[in-house]
Amino acid sequence: MNIFNTKLELKAFLAEQKEARKSIGFVPTMGALHEGHLSLVKRAKKKNDLAVVSIFVNPTQFDNSEDLKKYPQTLENDKQLLESVGCDVLFVPTVKEIYDNNINSEKFDFDGLEHEMEGKFREGHFDGVGTIVKAFLEIIMPDVAYFGKKDFQQLQIVKKLVEKYNIPVEIKGRPIFREDDGLAMSSRNARLTKEHREVAPFIYKTLKKAKKKFGAKNIEELTKWVKKQFKKKPLLELEYFTIADEKTLKTPENIESSKSCRAFIAVFAGDIRLIDNIGLK
Ligand code: AMP
Repeated sequence: MNIFNTKLELKAFLAEQKEARKSIGFVPTMGALHEGHLSLVKRAKKKNDLAVVSIFVNPTQFDNSEDLKKYPQTLENDKQLLESVGCDVLFVPTVKEIYDNNINSEKFDFDGLEHEMEGKFREGHFDGVGTIVKAFLEIIMPDVAYFGKKDFQQLQIVKKLVEKYNIPVEIKGRPIFREDDGLAMSSRNARLTKEHREVAPFIYKTLKKAKKKFGAKNIEELTKWVKKQFKKKPLLELEYFTIADEKTLKTPENIESSKSCRAFIAVFAGDIRLIDNIGLK
């Protein structure tokens, strides 16, 4: 695996690969890799000549400075995992390499997608995501970039970014990887206390039950039902539960008016914020 820390070296290497007509699949990550990340890398490798992964804890997408400070960093282990799945290129830039001395986001208009769900609770988060994804796509110029549906709103926003800026890349969304007990894999899971880790699978259990009830109850009733379930779990604090159309990310007037919708959830387990979602139809 080739490891680069600077844009210049990475670009020079990739230019040669493009000259040789190699296709590039790109997976951006913040490191502390798990099976969910590796599934994206395997896919990138399977469908392209080269799999390129970035590890960069992007400061501008954190609305909570403690979360940024405590974000798990396991670079040596990440490198071994990436080697084990045949990753070709790893890009690990410093913050200075990406932002120089101006650690600020560009401001984006994602046609309102940025104001829903996560956008309501994480000020500036999607400006940070837009800034870093646009920068990486411009540096790497991949044929395809892979994103997990774990961050479904992010996936839709990245699709919008590419469309609005005419960036010549295909964006692919991939399934959510879960622990055996159903908890969606996340780098932040490593920071859960034993008690919070034990209760955290309740999030996905509730999503699955909500899916079963979907259709029998209307959206308002279902939301009330979910809120009631979380009241019974004092270790988990529900931030939001929303049913939204996959395209607009807005709650449909009624179930029939949306072709495909999903339930989205954000929950605090102590000071660790967990998100998850499930397709409803
Ligand atoms: P992150 O390192 O959290 O920024 O995530 C990097 C990429 O991995 C994003 O596209 C995420 O959506 C994706 N990802 C994170 N967790 C999972 C998971 N449990 N299953 C599938 N993809 C995931």
